[in-house]
Amino acid sequence: MMVSDIVGQIHVLLGLPGSGKGTQAGRICADIDIAHLSSGVLFRGFGAHIDSANQNNSIRRYIDRGELVPDDLACNVVMHEIESIHRKGKGVILDGFPRTLNQAEFLDKSLAERGGNITSVINLYVSEEISLERILSRGRHDDLPEIARRRLDLHQQLSAPVLDYYRSEGRLLVVNGDRDEDEVQADLLRAIGSQI
Ligand code: AMP
Repeated sequence: MMVSDIVGQIHVLLGLPGSGKGTQAGRICADIDIAHLSSGVLFRGFGAHIDSANQNNSIRRYIDRGELVPDDLACNVVMHEIESIHRKGKGVILDGFPRTLNQAEFLDKSLAERGGNITSVINLYVSEEISLERILSRGRHDDLPEIARRRLDLHQQLSAPVLDYYRSEGRLLVVNGDRDEDEVQADLLRAIGSQI
């Protein structure tokens, strides 16, 4: 298989749904020259390369049920996108990926094959209560109470091992997400090593 070199920075932003990952990643990208790759946005149909109607429909069915897109599909789509961002010479903040231990292992392996590695892993921490409160106030179509609860339960079940994986290797930084947006952003920028 042809693998292209990964040259830029790769920051992984972890956190429960509603932790503010998306908002914060968006703000950081407006401040420093780095791309924001949200797997949720990608899978909700804005990814230009998810162009087959079938694939699009099957991804949508998982999202609408509050379930995760299967690992192999998620990994391929996200890796393809990381490569295209790196071809433009940019670094990337990953928001929403990896979400399972398989995805985390896949990411390390794929980056190593391409001569790269993760620059930083940050958990934007908020409690479950705050997560649920924030999800329900967003009003997205997959943010109905039962679906939101299901996404949160799934998240806890599947993503806890991801946190453990990075923590056990001493790679996990934690930022408290239950504060003023500016304070959170300043801490995140410090964590990714780009203070402004
Ligand atoms: P989010 O915007 O991150 O809450 O993601 C919305 C939906 O997209 C999730 O409920 C999943 O169905 C899907 N999704 C996002 N990221 C991933 C991922 N890394 N692996 C599998 N499914 C994902």
